[in-house]
Amino acid sequence: MPVFDTIIIGAGWSGAVAAKHLSSKGRSVLVLEARDRVGGRADTWKDGNVKVDVGCSWIHGYKEGNPARSIAEEHGVATHLPKPADGLIYGPDGLLSSSQANSLRAALSAAQSAFQLPYPPPPPTASLASALFGSDSPLFASAATADPSSDLNQTSPADPTTSSPASGSSKSADKANLVSLARSLEVPLGLKLEKASLRWTGWESLSNFAGSDAAPEGGYEALVRKVITKAVDHKAEVLLGTEVTSVKLQDDMITVTDRTGEIYRGKTVICTIPLGVLKTLPSSTFSPALPARTQEAIKGTHVGVLEKLLLVYPKAWWPKAETAGSFTFLPTSTQAISDTSTPREIFDASTLITANFACPSLPDPSPTLLTYLSETPALALLKHEPAEVVEAFHHFLMSRFGVEDSPPPSRSHLTNWYTDPLARGATTTPSIVSEHGERSPMDFKELSRPAWGGKLGFAGEATEMEHRGSVAGAVVSGQREAERVDRYLTMRSEG
Ligand SMILES: Cc1cc2nc3c(=O)[nH]c(=O)nc-3n(C[C@H](O)[C@H](O)[C@H](O)COP(=O)(O)OP(=O)(O)OC[C@H]3O[C@@H](n4cnc5c(N)ncnc54)[C@H](O)[C@@H]3O)c2cc1C
Repeated sequence: MPVFDTIIIGAGWSGAVAAKHLSSKGRSVLVLEARDRVGGRADTWKDGNVKVDVGCSWIHGYKEGNPARSIAEEHGVATHLPKPADGLIYGPDGLLSSSQANSLRAALSAAQSAFQLPYPPPPPTASLASALFGSDSPLFASAATADPSSDLNQTSPADPTTSSPASGSSKSADKANLVSLARSLEVPLGLKLEKASLRWTGWESLSNFAGSDAAPEGGYEALVRKVITKAVDHKAEVLLGTEVTSVKLQDDMITVTDRTGEIYRGKTVICTIPLGVLKTLPSSTFSPALPARTQEAIKGTHVGVLEKLLLVYPKAWWPKAETAGSFTFLPTSTQAISDTSTPREIFDASTLITANFACPSLPDPSPTLLTYLSETPALALLKHEPAEVVEAFHHFLMSRFGVEDSPPPSRSHLTNWYTDPLARGATTTPSIVSEHGERSPMDFKELSRPAWGGKLGFAGEATEMEHRGSVAGAVVSGQREAERVDRYLTMRSEG
């Protein structure tokens, strides 16, 4: 039985990068991947010419140093920065004017800046929601100064020249719209604002890659495939459909067993199993057991929810199809989402962001709408059949766009990363307010620490304190662990 220098568990971004790096150094590498495809949370939905990333889609911080850009360039994959396009906001009563939309966005952005790493640090139990929606929140500053009937501005009497009843009610509507728009932050966070820790809000903002976004041509999954192919060119072996069920250290060698009982041996292992999956594995999976602090970090670090709903139409029937890059739908209903809510009730009560692929802001436009579902609607929609969800969303769109008749979607797709046994969620979230002691970004550092004297390493987005939750985090972690293992193997051979 061959003994590999390194066995890599998982062929997502982190595993692919680690495999390429180590194999290019002449190390013998075996990659074991449970799915029948590579890419993991890089997953491109394809139908004819329509290709849509239903996992990761953007190279965030494209001009700001994201390493995924250099990987695309190295592999000859074109990348596209979207041309500017309108971002339209639909309020409960219809399309907002651009000045209304701009002022809502400006207020939200000012509030976000105000809550970047607040100092002095708020108590660990304070949530981002408590600050954003508090009575003195900068989110409502512009609404409050003009609204005497509002309870937002008790310490600062309003300017009487703006205190007509009409102005008061429109400012209340602004406040409701601001709260609804702030809920859109739950999409990238992967969790409700009530769960996000205020103390650590914005912790990543100075280090993560942000600013410009670009999309790799042909989708993210194909780019991972190219990285894996490079590793195979350097003699790495890749086994798909191979789910690892146990990892054991025996006599200075690591034995990895898959679900069929097949055994593989390596001097080192890099585990890229997603955090959500690690949480579900029996503790006996690793023997000897992982360090207690690692186990605690696995238990306490949060994995968020983000799903995508894709509707492909025979033609683009919605307004502003040629000019709008995205539509944000603020809720029309204040009814709380419950276990008995219908899909339509869920959509009506949620803040939804829909990307419009018909707009030629990227090459190859198509009559396609892609909607991001944050935790609350995503989990509630899970209780319904995808076909029912698609039909309800189509009718929701018709009513919000004020269109009476339109063709139904010809194809559709609803992701389910949350129950996918090989993902168990979208990505890790920023630090949370937790009943199990204070969580902090150090959790991600803890998850990156090697075990078993350096023979067992961990990579993956969850292991990158600075870039968690992103392709950049997965790439950086794969490179980090490959370099560490390479050094370890050199020292081991030198004795
Ligand atoms: C809906 C969505 C949208 C996103 N959007 C973006 C975005 O626009 N930009 C961005 O930067 N990031 C985005 N992300 C995050 C990004 O996709 C991830 O951070 C990144 O792909 C994670 O890579 P990874 O290697 O850490 O994990 P994964 O890609 O999950 O790879 C882990 C691999 O391990 C395999 N595996 C699991 N268990 C086993 C086992 N027991 N044995 C063998 N193999 C196993 C899995 O099948 C998987 O292939 C998004 C994620 C989602 C879900």
